[in-house]
Amino acid sequence: MLLEIKDLTLLYGRIQALHGISLVVNEGEVVALIGANGAGKTTTMRAISGLRPVATGSIVFDGTDVTRMRADLRVVRGISQSPEGRGVFPGMTVLENLEMGAYTRRDRAGVAADLDRVFELFPRLQERRKQAGGTLSGGEQQMLAVGRALMSRPKLLLLDEPSMGLAPMLIQQIFDIITEINQQGTTVLLVEQNAQQALSRAHRGYVLETGRIVKEGTGQELLHDPAVKEAYLGVA
Ligand code: ATP
Repeated sequence: MLLEIKDLTLLYGRIQALHGISLVVNEGEVVALIGANGAGKTTTMRAISGLRPVATGSIVFDGTDVTRMRADLRVVRGISQSPEGRGVFPGMTVLENLEMGAYTRRDRAGVAADLDRVFELFPRLQERRKQAGGTLSGGEQQMLAVGRALMSRPKLLLLDEPSMGLAPMLIQQIFDIITEINQQGTTVLLVEQNAQQALSRAHRGYVLETGRIVKEGTGQELLHDPAVKEAYLGVA
């Protein structure tokens, strides 16, 4: 087990966003977290990466309790997040953005190898490596955010809405790349509005509703679950 979350609760002031979430991610898996707007998907990701403190519950990553660990130390341990809304540094070049993803690392040769790997996954980023991040198209910025997260060589890659705002052809491409990243050995936890694609690519999935996990299963089980179909796949 790479990640184990137990009974997690999280508050934004007086608003309780998570009401006792428990989930696991095994090494080598792609796990999808689906749910409607406001269900708590992004909040769960923030709790895992340490961007938001939790009220109660525990997060164990790779055998270590990281529940109260600083976010930057979690990156060193192997958790990396590609945030919703991309968050690339607009004034920095593509290359500088990618280098920022590796700022906790001291192994130069490894960083250079991972840069090559990111450019292989995203040839477009290599073509544009000297261009400012802010001048890229939406899809290219999305790819840059994923590439930057990979530059810390994470054991667990957290992807928050990687397909958001992308044209249909690019959506297919980004999911292909996620599958490839996983096949190269990175475990992935994926938050998606695009439940159809996410579940068809994921080994397992969880359905989140108003801060609670209401269903879990393999990607295929959830894809064929009548309630999931009706609520999230747009099929009655
Ligand atoms: P979306 O797809 O819209 O991002 P989500 O499932 O990721 O939805 P969250 O963003 O995690 O949902 O939000 C969960 C709940 O917490 C919602 O009720 C939301 O209004 C609330 N919330 C999120 N961020 C904050 C914040 N910074 N302050 C107060 N409440 C917040």
